[in-house]
Amino acid sequence: MSAESHNDVDVEVLVIGAGVVGIYALYRAIDAGFTAQALEAGDGVGGVWYWNRYPAARFDSESYTYGYIFSKELFDEWRWKEEFATQPEIESYLNFVVDRFGLRSSIRTGQRVVSAAFDDDAGHWVVTTGTGDVVRARWVISATGGLSVPHYPEIDGLETFEGEGHHTGAWPHTPIDFTGKRVAIIGNGPSGAQLLPAIVDVVEQVDLYQRTPTWTTPLNNAPLSDERFTWLQQNFDEVVRILSTSPSGFLHTPAGKFSTDDTPEERREFYEKIWTSPGFAKLTANYYDMTTNREVNLEFCEFLAEKIRGIVDDPVTAERLIPKDHLFGAKRPPFVSGYFESFNKPNASLIALRETPILRIDATGIETTEGHRDYDIIAYATGFDFGTGALTRMGVTGREGLDLSTDWEDGPTDFGGFSAHLLPNFFFPGGPHGAGGGNYPRYSQDQIDWIFDTLDYARSNGYDRFEPTAAQQEAWMTMIETLAPRSIFSAEHSHYYGANVEGKVRKFLLNPGGRAKLHEMLDEVSSTADYGGAFTPAREIVAAGFTTESTSGDAR
Ligand code: NAP
Repeated sequence: MSAESHNDVDVEVLVIGAGVVGIYALYRAIDAGFTAQALEAGDGVGGVWYWNRYPAARFDSESYTYGYIFSKELFDEWRWKEEFATQPEIESYLNFVVDRFGLRSSIRTGQRVVSAAFDDDAGHWVVTTGTGDVVRARWVISATGGLSVPHYPEIDGLETFEGEGHHTGAWPHTPIDFTGKRVAIIGNGPSGAQLLPAIVDVVEQVDLYQRTPTWTTPLNNAPLSDERFTWLQQNFDEVVRILSTSPSGFLHTPAGKFSTDDTPEERREFYEKIWTSPGFAKLTANYYDMTTNREVNLEFCEFLAEKIRGIVDDPVTAERLIPKDHLFGAKRPPFVSGYFESFNKPNASLIALRETPILRIDATGIETTEGHRDYDIIAYATGFDFGTGALTRMGVTGREGLDLSTDWEDGPTDFGGFSAHLLPNFFFPGGPHGAGGGNYPRYSQDQIDWIFDTLDYARSNGYDRFEPTAAQQEAWMTMIETLAPRSIFSAEHSHYYGANVEGKVRKFLLNPGGRAKLHEMLDEVSSTADYGGAFTPAREIVAAGFTTESTSGDAR
């Protein structure tokens, strides 16, 4: 291999995807002095917040804990309107960040990657987009997201529907007018639960098709007050410290007690307080043993069931809405205000699919075992091919014939939830085994920060190839498999196990060790000489591939 071919890349760092994770990765790459570029499939930036534009799509993590925390100036400049922002504000924020840090000229939109192949001889990646453009890059950061490939249910005749059919995760840019329409929503996860109350007051009829009831609790949103915003600004360093170190990546104050510290009456009072708490605080600020002690979780579930019975007027509907097959938190719960209340409206009804399954969709509507209903609009809130969906569809091939589309058929194997043996110089922060069940951007930031520390180390020490060893990957995967049954999100009938996608292997797709294990195992690698064999030295002129001057391309 000649020195010339060794340097023959267009950019040092190629980021795929310009969502929350990709924007940060691009920022870090440019800030670190690498030539860098991002390819984005959408016609705009934002990732999930570009595609999920259904009515009332919003954060259920507090806006200021989900947004970026790497810049105090940015934190001060963007004044979130609500504790939990809606999609339009989030999309504006992400565009603001892109412009604020001068990233836009380095992002090429409308470029869906169709193949990413590692050229072992040249030591670089050859990435091809749907338009036929090719980018050669030393390092690839695939920030393609865990929730970016919409999953449509396998229902006979789905394609024959002549009304409007839209997936919540691929919602049209032209707003849909629901006024006076007959609407079906299939799915009652966070997306379906958000959509129902958002449209119930304007539609002629809306039917929610529910397969598995969920422990939905109120979001308890509020405007972000000036007092709160000022407090956050004044305590920025402490906010960053908590968000960067707490297991959940949230700011919520833990309860500081076990269920056994309280009497039954005190517990009841505590559950009332939890019910009115914001978003994920119902998990993070609950009793320490809420997710480990089955009895206390059952008690809390009974409290929630009573709430549902108290809200929903029709007792039969109320019973159908109460989960019977999983504890609170075992599946990722939706946090949505007004969801159960919607079923009291005369134009809303619940179709319980376990009792009356869908037989088919036809030109005019949906037929269940109960009969046929006509619709103008069907909203598929049926989730995503979680974790692996994007990576296995992108034509990723590494060394020794590794092909993600087939090698991950039995479940993903990786190291750190962002890299894999036989995939040199390829990182996928936010991928499978990435999130630990906490605040998603905080986990991804941990991964990206480690990746850039690693690239910096490589540049300083004359390495041009990083690839976790088989042993490092095995240790990580053993941790995943050992701790998965102990994860709070342990219900196997969940997208965290791939169970919502017909035919997908059921493997746990989160990091059950959370942040603590992530950092422990990453530190173990990065504190060992040469990262324990994960680095191999540049094979030509030492560090030749790393200086910005040495690349042949420009950052388009
Ligand atoms: P989801 O949680 O995977 O829920 C999908 C829903 O569709 C479930 O109710 C599922 O039923 C149902 N479903 C799937 N296939 C079906 C079929 N063939 N027939 C009938 N029902 C079917 O998807 P999601 O609601 O889009 O949420 C996915 C993730 O996106 C969330 O976990 C969250 O991380 C994120 N999200 C966040 C927010 C937010 O507030 N920030 C909002 C939306 C989404 P089963 O339960 O029976 O499988």
